[in-house]
Amino acid sequence: MDENVFNKILKKIKIVNNDSSCKICGGLEWIYDKNKGYYRCLCFYKRLYKDREKILNIPKKYKNASFSFYKPKNLSQFAFFNILKEYALIYPFFPFSTNENISHEKYILYIYGETGVGKTYLSIAFLNYLLKHKGISGYFIPFRDLLNELRNRLGDKESFKDYFLDIKSKEILILDDVGAERDTEFVRDILFDILDYRYNNRKLTLITSNLSPKRLILRLSSDNFEDTSLGERLYSRLCEVGEFIYVEGKDERKL
Ligand SMILES: [Zn+2]
Repeated sequence: MDENVFNKILKKIKIVNNDSSCKICGGLEWIYDKNKGYYRCLCFYKRLYKDREKILNIPKKYKNASFSFYKPKNLSQFAFFNILKEYALIYPFFPFSTNENISHEKYILYIYGETGVGKTYLSIAFLNYLLKHKGISGYFIPFRDLLNELRNRLGDKESFKDYFLDIKSKEILILDDVGAERDTEFVRDILFDILDYRYNNRKLTLITSNLSPKRLILRLSSDNFEDTSLGERLYSRLCEVGEFIYVEGKDERKL
């Protein structure tokens, strides 16, 4: 795009935003540099971060979840913390995505352990960090909520497809509390579909669960299901690109 045209558009944006509080860009949220071209000003990331509850779909109580507030109580929690911190540090800045840039061969993190050991908290701290420091917007969703949302759309094929694709293709996806729902073929197919998509597109995915990976797969391979091989296929993919992270501890919420 021609620089003059771009500047005209920027001026219009400025009128809409009507916020010239940023001394670097004057509220345009873009900066032009002869060598770098156009790039986002820091105030753009700050604005996104303010809106994080909505953008990341995180519950209010986790709004301020942060690596710096997390106090590991044992070795497994310390390891969990270090793995997520490392992923956060190597993750590319917006607008680059994992597809070309992630150096880790493991991009599905399966985080399991008892309830209340900080699995959800630290996963959201991870999302908060990436939005704040790298402009990357991930998405958090309890698996049960996703299933309900999809069930509500079963009568409308288009709406089901659009919504599901939107969720599947998020830059980073956290599926919270997988395995807490009743086992049905619907549940298994949805989970398989998501992981298949994310596997093929090399998209970073965090799954939290109370069940060990083997236990989850066993439940998803029930003899009552028509196709019992799906569970095994899921497990083999998880072994290939998944990192299994066991988090030990007492339920903090009961102490
Ligand atoms: Zn700015």
